[in-house]
Amino acid sequence: MARVAVVTGGTRGIGHAISIALKNKGCRVAANYAGNDAAARQFQAETGIPIYKWDVGDFAACQEGVTRITRDLGPIDVLVNNAGITRDGMLHRMTKDNWDAVIRTNLDSVFNMTRLVIDGMRSRSFGRIVNISSINGRKGQMGQANYSAAKAGLLGFTKAVAQENAAKGITVNVIAPGYIATEMVQAVPKDVLETKILPLIPVGRLGTAEEIARCVTFLAADEAGFITGACLDANGGQYMA
Ligand code: NDP
Repeated sequence: MARVAVVTGGTRGIGHAISIALKNKGCRVAANYAGNDAAARQFQAETGIPIYKWDVGDFAACQEGVTRITRDLGPIDVLVNNAGITRDGMLHRMTKDNWDAVIRTNLDSVFNMTRLVIDGMRSRSFGRIVNISSINGRKGQMGQANYSAAKAGLLGFTKAVAQENAAKGITVNVIAPGYIATEMVQAVPKDVLETKILPLIPVGRLGTAEEIARCVTFLAADEAGFITGACLDANGGQYMA
């Protein structure tokens, strides 16, 4: 039976590549997104992957989304918590709204989605949960107290939930990407990229969304049952924990 996989923020950037990679591995994929309907529709037309719009920071909306996907595709076997945003600024200038938005979208969302699929995974004795953190959750990043806190929070969440569910056939892991060539990073001026960012990356280039997707399919595979509570750093050697 094909596994049913949900990718939050699965229509653009890294999530776009994750959705396609899971589909290519034989999963029946549902791609969630927040508000960019045009990008989501284009993604659906190109890939044939069904799209589901809701805000992952909203528990009730997650409940509805999970119910719809379960009705359309079946019970969820693989959850990729990928949706994320940035609202950068130094802490001494950071607004409460920008703190709350990032914690809600990047950390509360992971509780919301995981909480809603965990009972079903436990009852079926199988599950794969992959959380997308960041190099900046590993090492901290100036101007990103909110983002670094949320992404570091995923590391603790992953280890706790991995321990709770290890005996139930459920693995919970985290991937910490470095700089990936998504629209956001490609918008950085060329000279800043070449003089400030690339020199920090021993591999000498940005990562690709497909390279992160490959980490996800590795951890989401049925055969990956002995890997749980782990953090997979994919950052071109920029940070070695
Ligand atoms: P993008 O901005 O390219 O895409 C984000 C996706 O998440 C979109 O599909 C977006 O939907 C969705 N999304 C955002 N907010 C919500 C929400 N509240 N509810 C549901 N969906 C939402 O991001 P990236 O691909 O760059 O990043 C993906 C993940 O990887 C994030 O968690 C990010 O923190 C992490 N990461 C990225 C790195 C990078 O270099 N790009 C490096 C390290 C980590 P919509 O299209 O509707 O806006």
